[in-house]
Amino acid sequence: MTLGTIAVVGGSLAGLRAVETLRRAGFDGRIEWIGAESHEPYDRPPLSKQVLRGEWGPERIALARDGLAPLRAELHFGARAVRLDARERRVELEGGEQIAFDGLVIATGAAPRKLPGQPDLAGVFTLRTLDDALAIRAALDAGPRVAVVGGGFIGAEVAASCRERGLEVTLIEALGQPLEQALGASIGALFAGIHRDHGVAIRTGSAVASIEGERRVERVRLADGSVIPADVVIVGIGVRPETAWLADSGVEISDGVVCDDHCLTCVPNIVAAGDVARFPSARYGESIRVEHWTHAVEQAEAAVATLLHGRDVAAPFDPVPYVWSDQFDAKLAVAGRPRASDEMRVVEGSFEDRKFVAITGRDGKLSGAIGLNRMRKLMEWRQSLREGISFEAAIARAAG
Ligand SMILES: Cc1cc2nc3c(=O)[nH]c(=O)nc-3n(C[C@H](O)[C@H](O)[C@H](O)COP(=O)(O)OP(=O)(O)OC[C@H]3O[C@@H](n4cnc5c(N)ncnc54)[C@H](O)[C@@H]3O)c2cc1C
Repeated sequence: MTLGTIAVVGGSLAGLRAVETLRRAGFDGRIEWIGAESHEPYDRPPLSKQVLRGEWGPERIALARDGLAPLRAELHFGARAVRLDARERRVELEGGEQIAFDGLVIATGAAPRKLPGQPDLAGVFTLRTLDDALAIRAALDAGPRVAVVGGGFIGAEVAASCRERGLEVTLIEALGQPLEQALGASIGALFAGIHRDHGVAIRTGSAVASIEGERRVERVRLADGSVIPADVVIVGIGVRPETAWLADSGVEISDGVVCDDHCLTCVPNIVAAGDVARFPSARYGESIRVEHWTHAVEQAEAAVATLLHGRDVAAPFDPVPYVWSDQFDAKLAVAGRPRASDEMRVVEGSFEDRKFVAITGRDGKLSGAIGLNRMRKLMEWRQSLREGISFEAAIARAAG
């Protein structure tokens, strides 16, 4: 089937990379590009770092440096898709406009989760969009006491950025250490140390019972009964994929848009990419959804290749995930899919020096590499992970 019109829903990283890849591959048809935000595509990683610290304005984070005109797309920005009719091949926008397509790229990303019963009080925020970041940044100008709920990557980065602005910050994590869920307790403890050294108060091992106040937030109460006074609370407890608009469309949803190993959904000529997409990883033998920047780029390229050339010609999508996180002067990078239960070996530097590379093994295979202030080395390990070498061979490689 010739794809005369391709619709791309999602006006951010995966959406932009999909549109760029289409044009780069010589697709000369019509592109209908739909995005809920009115901003042109921008980069999210700086939101919790340079933007929150007040160092960068919105103009520094534009993703398409030459603007969108060279992409020759019909822009529907500031317009949320509310329904997909997969059989009739139409996307309905808020306001009723219908967009017809032959092929579709779903790139709607994810939205922050809220705490159960999270109150709608002034001073309580989540962080996903530029508008969120600018609102938080404005609230920080008043010099508030800040509580950050959730010690994952985003929460830990937000805590660091607020502290770097000289604010009183408490980081609250239900597990024993920040970053523990992603990287295990020992690296979590290392990061807790980094945060404490910079003056962040860390409260671990107790979940949030309630966020309280009259009209503005005044305090966070923990399940153990203790109370943390706060004027600003930023909740960073993870995201849920943006799939509500796909309900009853025929596209299978299960904590994300379910794709095959070519980014293809169960409906022909409909692909998905980025934070919203779930796919079977042959490399890791599990169905995964990855919420990292590099992944969104790589998957958008793979999804477009499938759309244009078909799954028999396009290569299967089998990535080695990669993520980075900056907190104070600590530059963390993680490749692969390490689990807290994996065997871990420090192969360069040491935890004490806060400069190291650690590799992890699972079922005899190299499963991941974690680097602190060793970004270049991590790229080399990502290549070893692509090769799928054994843990033993990885240890020998490190020694050699
Ligand atoms: C604060 C922050 C910091 C981060 N830092 C890092 C980092 O340091 N390193 C790293 O690897 N990753 C980082 N990430 C993750 C990375 O930014 C994401 O993985 C990436 O943005 C995913 O791209 P995406 O296009 O799939 O989704 P998104 O960037 O979420 O884009 C999806 C777009 O679709 C739009 N949309 C949603 N629903 C609809 C709809 N119904 N109709 C139309 N449009 C819709 C959304 O408004 C959004 O603009 C960070 C994320 C955040 C929020």
